[in-house]
Amino acid sequence: MSETQVKTSPPLGDMSKAEFRRFGHELIDWISEYLEHVEDLPVMSQIEPGDLKAQLPSFPPLQGEGMDQIISDVDRLIVPALTHWSHPSFFAYFATSTSAPGIFGELLSAAFDNKAMLWRTSPASTELEEVTLDWLRQMMGLDAGYTGIIYDTASVSSMHAIAAAREGVEMRIREEGMSGRKDLPLLRVYISEQAHSSIEKGVITLGLGQRGLRKIPTDAEFRMDARALADAIEEDKKNGYLPFCIVATVGTTSTSSIDPIPEIIPIGEKHAMWLHVDAAYAGSAAVVPELRHILKGCERADSIAVNPHKWLFTPFDLSVLYCRHMDLLRRAFSLVPEYLRTPEQEKVRSGSDYGIQLGRRFRALKLWMIIRYFGHEGLAARIREHCRLAKLFASWVEEDPNWELMAPTPLALVCFRACPPVDAPDEAKREARLDVLNEAIMHGVTATGKALLSHTKLNDKITLRLSIGNIRTTEKHVRQVWDLLNEQLKLLSSK
Ligand code: PLP
Repeated sequence: MSETQVKTSPPLGDMSKAEFRRFGHELIDWISEYLEHVEDLPVMSQIEPGDLKAQLPSFPPLQGEGMDQIISDVDRLIVPALTHWSHPSFFAYFATSTSAPGIFGELLSAAFDNKAMLWRTSPASTELEEVTLDWLRQMMGLDAGYTGIIYDTASVSSMHAIAAAREGVEMRIREEGMSGRKDLPLLRVYISEQAHSSIEKGVITLGLGQRGLRKIPTDAEFRMDARALADAIEEDKKNGYLPFCIVATVGTTSTSSIDPIPEIIPIGEKHAMWLHVDAAYAGSAAVVPELRHILKGCERADSIAVNPHKWLFTPFDLSVLYCRHMDLLRRAFSLVPEYLRTPEQEKVRSGSDYGIQLGRRFRALKLWMIIRYFGHEGLAARIREHCRLAKLFASWVEEDPNWELMAPTPLALVCFRACPPVDAPDEAKREARLDVLNEAIMHGVTATGKALLSHTKLNDKITLRLSIGNIRTTEKHVRQVWDLLNEQLKLLSSK
């Protein structure tokens, strides 16, 4: 600590009320300015690996430091090291954003600091979660057979769904485990080749092993091939395996393709398998009445994961698992030691009964505030507009011979690439050159600091992804990124 520094933390206890109010007001002003002007900052952090660490002391301060100095270091050191997900030209991965009511919800939740493991340790969190998730269920058009529970991420939501499915096979896995058992067949989970890697991680975490996962090919539009799924299950059964769970995706990560749930349903039902739907990204779109069809068939699924932190303007993190068999989820995870036993436990829900976590954050508060502030119609209008902007961008790609779409655009993600005439002796070399060109275009756009895109590979071809999901993104930003892409194409083609 420098000698000139003013030490302001009191010898005992927390910050004084006067100081809290001063810096609290300052910080809200700071956040308001940040969100207003985030557009002027480079979307992706321009620092080099290690730059931030090199500027931070490697030892903790012995004595407290002044809040003003800490906040000024946020400006000086932290902001340049941020990639600004709140930037309206953030189009990478799945573009997402926080919102003002969500920020207020986080602020209050940090003040309350409830650990909602039991009903009595936070009745508000427990009951608000039940009510808010029921609102969201209705907004998404899901039937009343689903009960929701909040986890941090979709990775964790889906892992819990697979754990409940495994509990449902009635093979005493909770009690006896899986290793060293000769009486246990190979349990198998089925996903498409386009499913998110989190499902595979969940399978690994649950001790089912990568051998316990079978990846099903997809059709020309990157949707699970239901016929191939049926054949794979039949084949596995003949080989003595126990197919127990299908994970379909509504809104795959690479292309936002939607697996054909209505075709998958009878296959799962024939073999008494659990159907989990990973709708982490696209589930939120079902709040738009004319997009509800994306969840068609889910009235016969067993569980669905949806991430309000992806496309419902909810600050990270908040993922919801809707499940029809809360009894199985509870059976898989409930363990109540004496010190957590309460007189009301049979009458109320205790969050810790439904997962590996004991303490749980009060996440429902921010979602409740968001739904109340924007209303169902306001949320739907924003998602509808994102889909309109994506379709507009896709139409520009389609009309320009130098660009092509690489996948359908069912929602607000556009998959495309530049495909200008290139000199190449054969098709393979042409494709290789287009890959290099498209990567260069993406990096060129990123280097301008004005927009950020990401990529994937489709049919072995480098594909650019433009995802629209930020609450502040308007047509102006989408036009700007189209211009930037074309500038880069021109620049690179003239080299
Ligand atoms: N499922 C899908 C389809 C996704 O696109 C993603 C992330 O993008 C996930 C799961 C994982 O989400 P989370 O970060 O909430 O675990």
